[in-house]
Amino acid sequence: MKNTVDLFLFGLILVLCLGMYFIPVSLVQYILAGILGFFLINAIHFPREGKQEIPKPVQEYTLEDLAKNKSQWEQQFGKHKICDASVTDQFFAALHHYPEIHHGRFFVKRVKTDYAHSSRPIWYTLLLPFLTRKYLIAISNQLPPEREPTKFDNLSLNAQIGVLGHELSHSLDYFYKSNTEIMLTGIAYSFASFKKRLEVETDQSTVDHHLGFQLLSWSKEVNAIIKDGGYLSPEKIEALMRKNPAYLLKP
Ligand SMILES: [Zn+2]
Repeated sequence: MKNTVDLFLFGLILVLCLGMYFIPVSLVQYILAGILGFFLINAIHFPREGKQEIPKPVQEYTLEDLAKNKSQWEQQFGKHKICDASVTDQFFAALHHYPEIHHGRFFVKRVKTDYAHSSRPIWYTLLLPFLTRKYLIAISNQLPPEREPTKFDNLSLNAQIGVLGHELSHSLDYFYKSNTEIMLTGIAYSFASFKKRLEVETDQSTVDHHLGFQLLSWSKEVNAIIKDGGYLSPEKIEALMRKNPAYLLKP
């Protein structure tokens, strides 16, 4: 793959140099053409489809469940996952529900940030469409005092799995988008109405991946603090679960 990328870069630079030599354009036009070319090239995307069967909902995961399944999950999709040791078991329990991205390359890290948790592709893997994407799920270990209860370590085990499921739903969304679409999503996320719509769709995707009970635990534990974040309320999550026959709940 590296040779293909090198060859592509070489060809691109050669064409640009020849173009610059033969076509009399100003430097500004040349730069604009380069930016346009960058976005056009990065609009190409061929995601590799994973298998689709989503595991059944589990009302409550216990530490014993995680310990029992650990080696099987590691064997099944542990390749290319670099996780902080304190999060690995919860991350694997959540990823187990996302068979489409089992083969993805993930880093799950503790970071110093004001956001309790976030998910994004690693920027340098978005520079060319032929680079293998890598995804970062960041978990804050230092929050302002008023948001301390939303910190990962202060959540119950099921809420931790639920919030990692929410972040994996973001990763899944990126997975099907081209680099250009991801960059445009990043820009649009600064608008409150887009952010709200995306977060609602992400919660919906988490319920569709049968992590509704876990998302509900997370929502109940943090809703009072993050209710302006655009996420679904516990009542709305429960309503979605009741509509989904996999949860076996009365409508
Ligand atoms: Zn989110």
